Amino acid sequence: MIDIFIPKKYCQDIFHINYKKLKENDYKLIIFDLDNTIGSIKENSCSQKNKEFLNSLKSDFKIIIVSNSGKKRVSNFLKDVQCDYFYFSLKPTLRVLRTIKKKYKIDYKEMVVVGDQIVTDVFWGNRKNVLTILVDPIKNIDFKVTTFNRKLERFINKKNNIKRGNYYEEK
Ligand SMILES: [Mg+2]
Repeated sequence: MIDIFIPKKYCQDIFHINYKKLKENDYKLIIFDLDNTIGSIKENSCSQKNKEFLNSLKSDFKIIIVSNSGKKRVSNFLKDVQCDYFYFSLKPTLRVLRTIKKKYKIDYKEMVVVGDQIVTDVFWGNRKNVLTILVDPIKNIDFKVTTFNRKLERFINKKNNIKRGNYYEEK
């Protein structure tokens, strides 16, 4: 069984997530992936639109960015975004997820992970039964290190009958 690779929800992008419902269901902290979730790998800084959007969520949730990219990439991208962030996080290892639990004194069941990759973001959150939301990559261009993950993802999605573009219905 590879249930651990199945996202709890699958949305087109970060704007299509039902945040109202997340709040109603007592989720308190949202972890966003960076590359291809809040910015393409061609963007060096967060767009105004996404910056404002992330800021707007802050009244309801603690917002944290967790990226496997290095310090320079992540700190440059987020320099005008007032969010806590973790770089070189080695997702899907649990180190940073455990740190977040401790640092923000929050249970895994109150967290949400939003990301574009099955084998890092979704698998990572599912390992601790965090609510995982898969989004489509902003652009179909990845850093080289992601190429293998994408191959694995296509294989896993085929096994799990997950088709990119078949989004979960939000009621
Ligand atoms: Mg990503």
